[in-house]
Amino acid sequence: MTTFGLPPLIPLEEAQERVLEGMTPLAAESVSVDDAAGRVLARPVTSALTVPPWDNSAMDGFAVRSADLAAASVAAPVSLRVLGEVPAGGAADVAVEPGTALRIMTGAMVPAGADAVVPVEDTDAQPGQALLPGEVGIRMAPDVGANIRRAGSDVRAGAPLLPRGYAIGPAAVALLGATGTVAVEVHRRPRVAVLSTGDELVPLGEPLGPAQIYDSNGPALAAQARAAGADVRRLGIARDTLADLLGLLEEAVSWADVVVLSGGVSVGAHDHVKPAFSTLGTMSLWRVAIKPGRPFAFARARSGAREVALFGLPGNPVSVFVTFELFVRPLLRALAGHARLFDRPVRHARLVGPLAGSSGRLTIARVVLEPDPARPDGLVARSSGGQDSHMLWSLASANGLAFVPASLPAGADVVVWELGTA
Ligand code: AMP
Ligand code: MG
Repeated sequence: MTTFGLPPLIPLEEAQERVLEGMTPLAAESVSVDDAAGRVLARPVTSALTVPPWDNSAMDGFAVRSADLAAASVAAPVSLRVLGEVPAGGAADVAVEPGTALRIMTGAMVPAGADAVVPVEDTDAQPGQALLPGEVGIRMAPDVGANIRRAGSDVRAGAPLLPRGYAIGPAAVALLGATGTVAVEVHRRPRVAVLSTGDELVPLGEPLGPAQIYDSNGPALAAQARAAGADVRRLGIARDTLADLLGLLEEAVSWADVVVLSGGVSVGAHDHVKPAFSTLGTMSLWRVAIKPGRPFAFARARSGAREVALFGLPGNPVSVFVTFELFVRPLLRALAGHARLFDRPVRHARLVGPLAGSSGRLTIARVVLEPDPARPDGLVARSSGGQDSHMLWSLASANGLAFVPASLPAGADVVVWELGTA
């Protein structure tokens, strides 16, 4: 304890370590490949199929025997008799014999006897929806295997496809789909309960009375949690009494893996978060050496077999946004099974204009990050506007959070987390 009974300020990295300590991915569940994007594999996936399953054509054209065409050229086309056609999804009922060809579509099975496909553009046949010609003049000599996609050239049955810990995106969904994978084992999404505290707060859509403001933290935190891959439940607004707060927190803890509340965590006369957290679990930290976000509470509780993390974020809306980015998002990623907990791209930028720091605390400033007009692969950063912790316009205008250890002049280098829209 230091003066006034307040514990010392904890550096950011140490606070982040304490939040993440011992946190492991949530249990596995099976989800359909249709719903798998955004999830992390809890078990590796092996391919059930060979892909492509059979040799198929990479072009619309003619399946041929390359030996027939060794002398073919634009000046001296070689004529082949067209035996029929293989559409995608169909199989040829005849083989390609010497001196013959089958018209073939992209993705169709290469017929027996053929060892190359000549694109329609290299023949005298009409491209597009033309009648099947009786003969075709071939204007080039294809190599063996030309325009044939070989069976297994992408994936072989039984081969490892994606490892445990792989974060599934649209590209992996395509691969899983192509290999006939119906469902995958992924980590459960973290369940996040969001609540606000404060007698001044009114839910959106209701009229504002005197001395009231809208609860903007509730919807903002829900959006941040969803963007980080969580299942979210909004529990509304707790009034500034310990009983009301405890009531909502108990409901939150009975369902959630992570409870995120805002406000009431400071040293105001009506701030009940710390006593409430201590009643439900073990407080593990508060007061971090950052600006905004100094008042910040973190506790761990149990609900049956479930571990629940409790975050008491500051009430000021920008502090809420920043502390979510610094503490809650990495934890949600850990629970979801991600290997990279801090996923925001770290950029180095040159400052346009100064950025104010704060003594004894790391300032996290809202900035606009842009290409540097003076250096082709460099970046510049400038303040996106007022930096007070109630100022949301500058937050919504920013695309980065700059880490400012002390006041920095124009031209200084600064480290910036680039924010996505998710
Ligand atoms: P507190 O930490 O409860 O003292 O709140 C600090 C500041 O944040 C006060 O100006 C509150 O009105 C404001 N605030 C707290 N909760 C919210 C919320 N859910 N939405 C918008 N502003 C809030
Ligand atoms: Mg309050």
